[in-house]
This record gives sequence, C-alpha cells and structure tokens, in this order.
Amino acid sequence: MTRIAVIEKEKCHPMACGGYLCIRVCPVNRTGQDCIVKGEDTKASINTEFCTGCGICPKKCPFDAIHIVNLPEALEKDPIHRYGENGFHLYSLPTPMFGKVVGVLGVNGIGKSTAIKILAGVMNPNLGKEKEDEAGYDELIRYFKGTEAQNFFEKVRDGKIRISYKPQQVELIPKSFNGNVRELLSKVDEKGSMEEIADLLDLREFLETDISKISGGELQRVAIAATVLKDANMYIFDEPTSFLDIKQRIKVSKFIRKLADEDTAVIVVEHDLIILDFMADLVNIMYGEKGAYGIVSLPKPTKAGINVFLEGYLKEDNIRFRDSQIKFSPRQAGKDVEKPALISWKGISKRMGDFHLSAEQGELKKRDVCGILGENGIGKTTFARILAGVVEKDSGEMDDTIKVSYKPQYLESESEEPVASYLQDAVVKFENQLIRPLNLNNLFDKKLSELSGGELQKVSIARCLSQDADLYLLDEPSAYLDVEQRLLISKIMRDIMEVNLKSCLVVDHDLLFIDYLSDDIIVFDGEPAKHGEVKGPFPMSDGMNSFLSGLNITMRRDAESNRPRINKPESQMDRKQKSEGKLYYS
Ligand code: SF4
Ligand code: SF4
Repeated sequence: MTRIAVIEKEKCHPMACGGYLCIRVCPVNRTGQDCIVKGEDTKASINTEFCTGCGICPKKCPFDAIHIVNLPEALEKDPIHRYGENGFHLYSLPTPMFGKVVGVLGVNGIGKSTAIKILAGVMNPNLGKEKEDEAGYDELIRYFKGTEAQNFFEKVRDGKIRISYKPQQVELIPKSFNGNVRELLSKVDEKGSMEEIADLLDLREFLETDISKISGGELQRVAIAATVLKDANMYIFDEPTSFLDIKQRIKVSKFIRKLADEDTAVIVVEHDLIILDFMADLVNIMYGEKGAYGIVSLPKPTKAGINVFLEGYLKEDNIRFRDSQIKFSPRQAGKDVEKPALISWKGISKRMGDFHLSAEQGELKKRDVCGILGENGIGKTTFARILAGVVEKDSGEMDDTIKVSYKPQYLESESEEPVASYLQDAVVKFENQLIRPLNLNNLFDKKLSELSGGELQKVSIARCLSQDADLYLLDEPSAYLDVEQRLLISKIMRDIMEVNLKSCLVVDHDLLFIDYLSDDIIVFDGEPAKHGEVKGPFPMSDGMNSFLSGLNITMRRDAESNRPRINKPESQMDRKQKSEGKLYYS
C-alpha cells in the first residue's frame, strides 16, 4: 500500500505545540531513526521511508497539520504534481471534451484550481519530483500514455489546442491593470468582437469606467469577456459566477453553454450546484483528502455526477469520500408551528441619491431563517441596514427596539488582531456550535489580515452569530465557501436560531443554499440602481414563485436527491409548470 505524509506548513507551529510535539511522540523517532525531523523551513518534515503509518502524530498535533494517508491501490503511481516534499499531491486531471461544458466539482483544498491551471498551461506539473523539475509536454505525454489526456497534451504541444483561462480571483485584476474596462478588453480582443460581447454580458454601462471603480459582479463579467475575446478553442473558467446575482448567473451560464461546439471545449469550476447543473453537460468529481491529495473521477452526466457528489460515494470505484450523505428534505407546507413576532414594518421609504427603496408591510418571526432574493444594486443591503438601524428611513413604521448583528457582503481586513481575540465571544459561548464544527481553532494564531477569503468568511459568520442580538443579518455568507461548507453553515445557522429563539436574515445568490436554509423568503423587485421594492416574507414556495417569474425560469426537485434543479428552457416540465403557474416545485 502506498502511503503519503502531508504537512500543511501554514498550520505547523513548532513552538506553539510545545516544541515539535510530533517528533517527541513518533515511535520511530523514539527508536533513534529520523522519521520526523525539523525541516530547513523550521517546520516538521516526515520521511515516508521510515513512517509506519501508526497514526499517532496526526492525532497529537494540536493544529491538525499532519495527514498520513493510505492511498487507494489504484493510485500506486507518481502524482501529476506535488507541492514540494510533504506537500499536496494531485493524481489526475479533468477531461476536456469538444462540444461539451465539463464541470469540476469538489470541496476547497482538493486541488481543483491546481488541476485546471495545469490544463490551462499556466502551471507546469512536476510529476511528483522536486519543484524545479517541471515536466515538458513530451514527459507529460509519456506519463498519460494510453489515456484521453495523452491525446489532449499532444494537441496542446502541436498548437492544435489554444487555451484561454479565467482565474478564480478576479478581485486581483485591478492590481495588475491601470485603465478603464474598454482599454482592458481592447488589449485582449483577438477576435474583434468586443462590442458584441459587451452587449451579451451587459458591460455597456461601465465600459468607460476605471477598472478599480467597478463592483465585484462587474469585474467578474469583464474577466469572462476578456477570456472569450481571446482566439482559443478551449475556455476554462474558475468560478465564473462568484459576485454575480442570480439573474446574471443564469445569463452567464447560458453564455458559457453557447461557447461549446464541435471545435470548442469548455471547463468550469463552480460551487453553485444549481448553476453547475444548468450549465454543464458532464462533471468530474474531485475527491481525496483536503490539503493532502486530490483525485479526479471519470466524467459523469451532470445530474448523476451531482447526485454522486451529494451522496459522497463513487460506486464504480467503491470509494466513500464523505462520511455522510448530503440530504434535501421535501418541504411540508403548513406544518410550521406558530412562532412569536420579532419585528414588523409598514410602508418604509428611503431615498439615497437617485435610488428609492420601499417596503410594504412585513413581519419577521422568532426562530425564523428568512432568505432574501434579488438582483445586485436593488437595495437588499440598504434594507438590511435600515432594520439594523445603521441607515435611517425617510418614512414608515418599524419596531426599532431590536438589536441587530450584521455581517457585510464585502469582507476585507487589514487588521492585525489575532483570530482568537476577534472570536472571543464565540469561544466562550459557542465552542460546540461554531468553533469546533467550523474548525476555527486552527486559525486562532493567524491575524485577520492573513486569512484567505474562505477563512475570513467563516470567521466573520462566527463573529456575527456570537454577538448578543435579536436578529442576525448575513449578507452573502456563501461567497468563497464550497458546497459542503455552505450546507454546514446553513445547519449551524438554523440550529443557533432554533435553540436561542433568535431570527436570521440571509441575503444570498446561491438558490440551493437559500432553499436549504430558509423558512421563508423576502423578494426584492424593481430596477437596479433606480428603485427596489421589498415584498414578503412569503412562505418558501410563494416567495420562489414570485422571484422566478421575474427570471422566466422554472424549478423542480430532483426525484433522487430532492435537490432543486432549473428545468431546461422549453422542456416538457418547464412548459407544464408555467402553464400551471407553479414555477417552483417545493
Ligand atoms: Fe507541532 Fe504539529 Fe508542527 Fe508537529 S506538525 S511541529 S506537532 S505543530
Ligand atoms: Fe511517526 Fe509515521 Fe507514526 Fe507519525 S504516523 S508518529 S510519522 S510513524
């Protein structure tokens, strides 16, 4: 059996564990052999030749930095890429296919971005050797002999495949480009189709705006436009819908779908399962062990692939990659027990520059988790801030005696404060409900400014939920989190509201996440940047019906997994549901 030892270097703190605790407890070291040693970077380093796989050091390390993994037998080969000694191992790659959109689905830290960077040619794999020893195309072709990937890399080597790639972190674009949107797109426009793409992706209104001044959603669309303006026959998109609202997500999905034809292959990494389902023909599931190793499954039809992912079990390989199944329960209308009221409002009006927000009559109940749906720029955050008392309303009635804890949409922290002190309240009050399930102890020694997007999101959610308040407002808590983390957060939020008799408002664009966590729904109608109308809260199915009518789509539940799916436009189900006026099957 092949065994790998991985040490997550950023988690290894040799002094904080009492001075190389792993070295002291390793039975092989105790016999005098150098199984675990102090590495040149001062972190622990494991020599796999000596390691017996006894499993003691991963259990003892207080920071969860060590993984000793017995690999499935099929993996008794060198990895495609290894991040240095005791680093993450990647064992296979997704399969690009001409005429198809191939999705890549997996949790964070499982190697998705590494895999597609290798496919995109922006990162050279080292076939498990030292970092400097990067493999050329001929070596890669030999490594993949007899597989689809051999064919693929031969074509790349011979210039028959030209690749264009949209990286994950679009927020870094303004750091590397000075100028407006038009200037950026003109620079990369190899096809001469900038005007057409600008219309298709709704860029017209901000073409002359400086790149540093546009919003996250606008930046995402500019990055997608820049990718497709390159003359390529394979397009790779790493998380193309982050920062986009649902209307834009659907628009972008349709746009990406249309790119795939018999001469063009498309690969997409996406965490929004409803959108991935809508956009992709096939999916590759990535599994393994977070931070340790990643494997890519063979491609599967999207519907089946997503269900396999939710189940956590690959039947053909007999591999269970998650202990438990992710389940969606059918909703039971009218089963709710009557809940006491928390806050009500009536006829709220607020003008901010050219934008006007109005809210009809509405009421939130205690123990309620209420989802908020609507486009970007339509006043969701403003309404949340009015309820929070951070923004004053112009007119209308509101019970303003409640205390509100708020997590904003954009999280940026330059603070030097350590996570442990920032999360003091959560440690004292919610050790079992927040700190442990979200694995936040591992971040305690880090400063807020050192956290990744996903880490900062989890820390901010925990901080918000641990404050003493009646109502918790969370704006886009799903951003930067993978599917498993999103569903875990949903469960945590629901439990905390239920046990502590509190209420929660969640603004988010991931419909599956909203479906999973919400008791009811507030819908925002109107026109972005001009006016917004707050409607509801409605029961889930009424709210979704009202929201979907503005998008011209219908949704049903998957018979096998019960997860919500968008019907293919003009399919039998789509037409049936539209004729019945039931746009959402709950
Ligand atoms: Fe200490 Fe864990 Fe690092 Fe070993 S891996 S030195 S136990 S922090
Ligand atoms: Fe030592 Fe390997 Fe056991 Fe860790 S798993 S204590 S490195 S023998």
